[in-house]
Amino acid sequence: MFEVDWKTPHLWRKTTVARKTSPALTGDIETEVLVVGGGFTGLASALGARDSGAGVVLLEGNEIGSAASGRNNGLVISHHSKASPSELEKAYGKIHGDRFNTLVAGAADVAFGLMQRFGINAHQVQQGWIQPAHTEATHARARQFHDEWRAFGAHVSWFDRDEVSRRVGSRYLGGWMVHNSGHINPFAMTVGLADAIEREGVHIFENTRCLRLEKAERGWRVYTAAGSVTAREVVLATNALTDDLWPGLKRTLIPMKVFQAATEPLADDIKAQILVGNPAVSDMHNDLRYFHYDCDGRLVSGATHTFWHDEDRRGRAKVARMLAGTFKPLGGEPRITEYWSGTFAVVPNLKPHLYRLAPGLVFGGLYSGRGVALSMALGQEMGRWATGRRTDADMPLPVTSMQPIAFHPVAVQVANRMHAWNRMKDRRA
Ligand SMILES: Cc1cc2nc3c(=O)[nH]c(=O)nc-3n(C[C@H](O)[C@H](O)[C@H](O)COP(=O)(O)OP(=O)(O)OC[C@H]3O[C@@H](n4cnc5c(N)ncnc54)[C@H](O)[C@@H]3O)c2cc1C
Repeated sequence: MFEVDWKTPHLWRKTTVARKTSPALTGDIETEVLVVGGGFTGLASALGARDSGAGVVLLEGNEIGSAASGRNNGLVISHHSKASPSELEKAYGKIHGDRFNTLVAGAADVAFGLMQRFGINAHQVQQGWIQPAHTEATHARARQFHDEWRAFGAHVSWFDRDEVSRRVGSRYLGGWMVHNSGHINPFAMTVGLADAIEREGVHIFENTRCLRLEKAERGWRVYTAAGSVTAREVVLATNALTDDLWPGLKRTLIPMKVFQAATEPLADDIKAQILVGNPAVSDMHNDLRYFHYDCDGRLVSGATHTFWHDEDRRGRAKVARMLAGTFKPLGGEPRITEYWSGTFAVVPNLKPHLYRLAPGLVFGGLYSGRGVALSMALGQEMGRWATGRRTDADMPLPVTSMQPIAFHPVAVQVANRMHAWNRMKDRRA
């Protein structure tokens, strides 16, 4: 069910200049820091370690950008998906709550900053992210998010009913904007970041799956099909595709499959009435709706299925219906020309995790669907952590041992059907 066909080009890949694939590993090599996984978390970890002066090798099992980082919607958001700053502080305590809120508030700037630092063209648009509210309850919640982030010092604005409806192009009761946020072509960002860190001296090997980890005299030896890497420190950044490399690790996360779809490029007179000013938008339905334009004016959105038969046809129809119902200026169901799917990792408390698995071996990530900005900020911290520039106590999140999910096989099935329940709640609301 969670398999995605990563070789078939999707919208983001089609609109990105192809990158020359790095070679697969052959033979035995040594390094100071080994990063496993070439998504945003792994790439940013490698950069954080390299910036700290370490020799770094990164191994990616498929190709760079083949997993969630290259296939997502591209919303770059400086806000935790479900919790307000005070709730995060309550969950983590004052010190970690404050550090994590600071990380979240600055994460979009970190992501856009990397594009600027390395001259990456990821079709980036930093025109803010709007979260509009459609019920009295969500209106109150949006207002709480706005007020708490404002008190925290983030650059946010509140929009009344008319203003938010004009900006989004659909009727809502009110909403807030996070100004440093926006949207990107995520595949262009992954390959751009991979090129950049290679130029910085990170050795990347693609199509090189790590099959086995073994304690070595000083650190770890990681075996692949045609070689091995011996490293003092190993960072696992394998997210939803975590396999049996480390016993029990995959039972700490739930892989969740979702799909994305895009319209044909919209006419200028329609675009002038929808997402005015080119912001990113995700609203507050339980069955979340999110939208932004790509570089050619296609409206990009997504959803999920309860059952995945005939997924392409049903997915296109579902998004066309949802867009027509949301945006009256479309004048009916738009033509959906792009469809693809991807898998991200969810955890029950919806908060990222940092695990110390053993001395010299760490794992981090698990963003529950809100990882584009956060992975680039947290990933760099993980790289500094691996080089000893940060201790466990310095990290923006508590460092814990693995937190396995109870009744994991059942939890995976339930979580992947949850949106049917969410849709029912939306209808009632
Ligand atoms: C369809 C979709 C839409 C999304 N939309 C958004 C959005 O708009 N905004 C947002 O903030 N978040 C979004 N997300 C979530 C976001 O994409 C992820 O949180 C983020 O990309 C996670 O990055 P990562 O590097 O941790 O994981 P990944 O990008 O999944 O990378 C993990 C990598 O590890 C590799 N790997 C695994 N095991 C091994 C091994 N044994 N050896 C070698 N390599 C291995 C995999 O091949 C993979 O490339 C979305 C996710 C999906 C799937």
